Amino acid sequence: MENKLFGKPVIHQEAMRKRIKALGATIAKDYEGKDLILIGVLKGAFAFFADLARAIPIPLQVDFLVVSRLRDKRRKDGGTVSITSDLSTEIKGRDVLIVEDIVDSGYTLTFLKKELLKKNPNSLKCCTLLNKPERRKIQVTVDYICFEIPDRYVVGYGLDYKDKYRNLPYIASLENVVAE
Ligand code: 5GP
Repeated sequence: MENKLFGKPVIHQEAMRKRIKALGATIAKDYEGKDLILIGVLKGAFAFFADLARAIPIPLQVDFLVVSRLRDKRRKDGGTVSITSDLSTEIKGRDVLIVEDIVDSGYTLTFLKKELLKKNPNSLKCCTLLNKPERRKIQVTVDYICFEIPDRYVVGYGLDYKDKYRNLPYIASLENVVAE
């Protein structure tokens, strides 16, 4: 049932369920026999992370980090990204898959990859729920993408606006949410 408080879905729950199931199977195939650790980027990835992890039917470990991005249009790199809460697990020699909510300009993911590579993982890839290629400011490889979306601000399924709407069970456009 759609939640009338939060506007119409841009991506429905059922579409996400199907896509995540398929992606989980692909990831399981790619990482069969490897030492996989999923790293969730909080807060935005929490809902996607929980569903994706359960859709990957091979042994794996999970860990999380929290990033904050202070935007500053005057800076060439669009602002500063920092890790406000770091991993609690050693990733040296392991096969790391970053789980992101959305890749927009690409600055956050670029920063994260650089930081995680310093810890010498065996491999480092990224999986994102949403990708906004039109907004990219810096070239960064995203290995697994659930959905590509146009340049508009979305909320729900972990994604926020002013720290709200994360509990919405589907993805909605912020314009619709605020208009109601
Ligand atoms: P990037 O560094 O790639 O520009 O930004 C990534 C971060 O910006 C995401 O993890 C997310 O927190 C935020 N972001 C970018 N686009 C959106 C959007 O459409 N909706 C929401 N809620 N957050 C977004």
